[in-house]
Amino acid sequence: MPQEQCYMCHKVATSVEHVPPKCLFPELKDSGKDLRINLITVPSCEDHNGKKSHDDEFLMVSIAGIIGNNSIGYQHYNGKIQRALKRTSYKLLEKVFLRKEILRIGDENKFLELLWGTPDHKRLIDCFTHIAYGIHRHHYKQNFNGIVKPYLGFLYTKEQNPKAFKAFLKDKASIELADQPKYGDNPEVFYYQFTGVDNFGLFLGRLCFYQNVDVYISYQPAEAQTPYHLGFDLMNRGIKTIIKLGDKEYEFN
Ligand SMILES: [Zn+2]
Repeated sequence: MPQEQCYMCHKVATSVEHVPPKCLFPELKDSGKDLRINLITVPSCEDHNGKKSHDDEFLMVSIAGIIGNNSIGYQHYNGKIQRALKRTSYKLLEKVFLRKEILRIGDENKFLELLWGTPDHKRLIDCFTHIAYGIHRHHYKQNFNGIVKPYLGFLYTKEQNPKAFKAFLKDKASIELADQPKYGDNPEVFYYQFTGVDNFGLFLGRLCFYQNVDVYISYQPAEAQTPYHLGFDLMNRGIKTIIKLGDKEYEFN
């Protein structure tokens, strides 16, 4: 077998890494249908294999239980994930959420317990950064040389600027991705999309989990120019700014 390069670095790969992690895809015995068709793998070195760091489990617990997911994500959360949580006496959760809350929905006899809290944002960004590089390697058959910036579209925010930016990014992505194909053989669990390259040499990716959890990835190739956007510059300086997209307006500051 020829020596292959790790999807994240220059080292020689010693194993394969599933992108996204295999544990996000329910097993046949739990779901009653095969949701592990042609799972995506990329060559990986020891350091960039998510199993070693338990990032795979962290990601699974963080996103499978999110409100609004399809029934597959929900079942997965109540099956395999609850078993994993019980097995570790809920220690796994302590690692996932920095601040925990239990949300109870329904009447007093019959309620759903949903665990929610403040997720470890930095660690989530790290997980999605790895997936972004992995998906690029898989799709374009080469490592991505540049910076990736994941944006977690599924996190709820009350602050005005992040809220307006989230709405803007979601709408912009949905326009640019509308005609782009969806890739992934288990779309109920995961699919991804890519936009074309813009005038600055940048492009956008979308990772979608359980038909609900959206993560947008900004890919900035090393040779690309940094775009100058007057609106965002004003926004960052704290000046009241309205950015228009089609017939919609997004107000900042
Ligand atoms: Zn590596």
